Amino acid sequence: KLVIEGVSRTFGGVRGGQPVQALQPVDLAVAANDFITIVGPSGCGKSTLLRIVAGLEAPSTGRVLLDGKAVTRPGPDRGMVFQSYTLFPWLTVAENIGFGLRERGMPERERNDIVASYVDLVGLKGFENHWPKQLSGGMQQRTAIARALANDPAILLLDEPFGALDNQTRGLMQELLLGIWERRKKTVLFVTHDIEEAIFMASRVIVMTARPGRIKSDVPVELPHPRHYTLK
Ligand code: ATP
Ligand code: MG
Repeated sequence: KLVIEGVSRTFGGVRGGQPVQALQPVDLAVAANDFITIVGPSGCGKSTLLRIVAGLEAPSTGRVLLDGKAVTRPGPDRGMVFQSYTLFPWLTVAENIGFGLRERGMPERERNDIVASYVDLVGLKGFENHWPKQLSGGMQQRTAIARALANDPAILLLDEPFGALDNQTRGLMQELLLGIWERRKKTVLFVTHDIEEAIFMASRVIVMTARPGRIKSDVPVELPHPRHYTLK
């Protein structure tokens, strides 16, 4: 269970500069099977909040609790897809996807099978041995999504993961993510600018105010079975 307790973030204030508040205190109790989409104006602190939950950044106040333990660093229990593709440029597509599994010491044969299945799921068959710079933006993003999914983390933190994808690919990735959320019982925090996507993808929609953001509304979405959606 994920609990966000009074988490805020202020940047700067060094060398005489004015500190900038990026995020007002946020309180959020996330159920294990929540699919939360977060929407709000640009600059309201959505990415900052996800990075804090990921453990990549420390909150200025408050804390993030995972099963009662404060988060202080990234861990294999949380997978993150960033707003702009952040693949390891010195690793191939397959090596990027298998990176976390390798870190965990999974034997090569087992790892290769898992990597191959995710390569297939995100439609990158034939590109396994390409370098990130040889891929389009959308393909890089699909590699990043596959890398996050392959680790099978309990919590997925997705920062506008589909923003760079064409409509058809976005639809496929939406269905893939919903299917994985549903079958594997994951917690998802999903930031998007696409209000339609926010509603169709969520079990709960969180709306933030303009910068510095705080939670304005927290709306449960009654979910028919995700398969009944026609996603664009
Ligand atoms: P967008 O929708 O455009 O991605 P966002 O909601 O993700 O916006 P953040 O990237 O979290 O917004 O940024 C929130 C605020 O914090 C912004 O005003 C931004 O300028 C500021 N900010 C973010 N990171 C830093 C940093 N490392 N140093 C200083 N200010 C920062
Ligand atoms: Mg952002």
